[in-house]
Amino acid sequence: MVKIKAAVFRDDSLKPSLEELELTGPGDGEVLVKIVATGVCHTDLKTAGPGGRSPRPVVLGHEGAGIVEAVGPGVTDIVEGDHVVMSFTSCGACPSCLDAQPAYCYVADHFACARPDGEDYLHGDDGAVHGDFFNQSSFATHAIAKRRGVVKVREDAPLEFLGPLGCGVQTGAGAVLNVFKMKPGQTLVVFGTGSLGLSAVMAARIAGAGRIIAVDVHPNRLQLAAELGADEVIRAEGGPVSERILGLLPDGVDFALDTTAVASVMLQAIEVLAPRGTFGFVAAPENGGALSIPMRPLMKARKIVGIMEGNSNPEVFIPQLVDFHMQGKFPFDRLIRFYPFDDIEQAFHDSEAGTTIKPVLRMT
Ligand SMILES: [Zn+2]
Ligand SMILES: [Zn+2]
Repeated sequence: MVKIKAAVFRDDSLKPSLEELELTGPGDGEVLVKIVATGVCHTDLKTAGPGGRSPRPVVLGHEGAGIVEAVGPGVTDIVEGDHVVMSFTSCGACPSCLDAQPAYCYVADHFACARPDGEDYLHGDDGAVHGDFFNQSSFATHAIAKRRGVVKVREDAPLEFLGPLGCGVQTGAGAVLNVFKMKPGQTLVVFGTGSLGLSAVMAARIAGAGRIIAVDVHPNRLQLAAELGADEVIRAEGGPVSERILGLLPDGVDFALDTTAVASVMLQAIEVLAPRGTFGFVAAPENGGALSIPMRPLMKARKIVGIMEGNSNPEVFIPQLVDFHMQGKFPFDRLIRFYPFDDIEQAFHDSEAGTTIKPVLRMT
């Protein structure tokens, strides 16, 4: 049993209480990680807010990075002292997992916040607290994870920066490198230049993109997009931007990535596709997620694909992204602003307001 400090969400506000909890574990096949730093992802905000999909009270957080403090029975390939990035877990046995596509696991439910055996491993003064959010619940000084969702990383990499690789950054980079499998000379437009969109821009640069266009409403983000590799930036000011994109690339773009989940924006992204182009999206629009899409343009092999976690197989992809970073090709650290753990409420606020692209909470 370990005494930990955790951010506990007890209602639908974005204001957690910082509490001391008792953590039991690690159990069979589990790893106990002392968190060094953890990113804040929009999924944390959505889950913490009204209508959030997880039960209460709950510890959220799913971009943890830290040092292994103990391993449970059956864990032999990770040891105490290893540097790790925490990511989502998967069953390892379904058709997607067997095909090295664990993001599309038939079984895993990252929002259930309950173990299959029903046992709680986090307890506060007045009872059990839900954990296991995305295999982590990393808004805490310590977190328990299944071995499959924990990735060992090289020790010369700056661990406190690496947590966002476990979700937001691998989603954006993976969309380009794993889903689109972008080839040199191909073109990309990214709608929304938050951490996902900017990660996609950096990944497209690595892939040798011919032209990268970034679209956003925030001039400061577009400025950063240009510095990170976008050839053109377009400030969307209310009206559609498809004509401006087609003005730059009259044949259309090979790949369009939407990170906004705004229906009217998604339709523009589909409109600007070249024949055989692919539209990828990472979240469905609100209100049931329906779009009215003209089908005839799709006859020219234009494709629409939903993307989770960038098709990442974390065990392989995260160390690869760390290597790119260490080679200076993937400066995702420029998206990050650090906050002390106690300032989690401020980090949530700045993320929602868009003033910080990727808040990361430091535990010490
Ligand atoms: Zn599976
Ligand atoms: Zn996330």
